[in-house]
Amino acid sequence: MKKTLVLAAILSAIIIKSADAQTTSRTYKHGGYTLTLTNNDATLDTAELTRLVKTFYIVYPELAKEYNPATLKDVKMAVDTSYKGVAATADGKVTIAASWLHKRPEDIDVVTHEVMHIVQDYGESVGPGWLTEGIADYARNQFGVNNAPAKWTLPDFKPTQNYDNAYRVTARFLVWIEKKVKPGLVKEMDSQMRKHTYTDASWKTLTGKTVDELWKSYSENPAI
Ligand SMILES: [Zn+2]
Repeated sequence: MKKTLVLAAILSAIIIKSADAQTTSRTYKHGGYTLTLTNNDATLDTAELTRLVKTFYIVYPELAKEYNPATLKDVKMAVDTSYKGVAATADGKVTIAASWLHKRPEDIDVVTHEVMHIVQDYGESVGPGWLTEGIADYARNQFGVNNAPAKWTLPDFKPTQNYDNAYRVTARFLVWIEKKVKPGLVKEMDSQMRKHTYTDASWKTLTGKTVDELWKSYSENPAI
């Protein structure tokens, strides 16, 4: 029993060491923003890593200027072979699945969506998750650098959709509201979510209609 434990300890130490040896970390500073990029996938083309960095330095200052100039100045990004989703963001750190970058190397604006979550900074949000994700995809649609080659578009309206489907469905609804009902709505909603002043009544106050009424009008004439 004791021997097995010792062997297990040695094996795990070796694995940690070899994982560490494969992890590269680089820190970039530009335009007042610091980006630390770590990568534990030695098989990933370094050009793809360079694209991540370039995309960050294009979109993050634009998102900050548009939505939240007080956003974090120091951002961390990790390309991780062990991450099983596509990407996620928490506490100023973006994690991107290495497998996703192999599969969809043109989908570089996964960075745009994720760093928008840093800009959003809603904390313990008082608003719905579908709106948070809808705004992040609205921002990707607005500021993304490679959406078309990635074949990333806002999907056409379908009667089976609803505003709380989140992501691109909600983003397209927000585009429609901006164009047909209330220019500036997204910035205002984003601001309210950050200040924790958002309530369900915010839609009515800002547009004269509840979110359900807005969706009904959208579903009747969804052209954007
Ligand atoms: Zn998201």
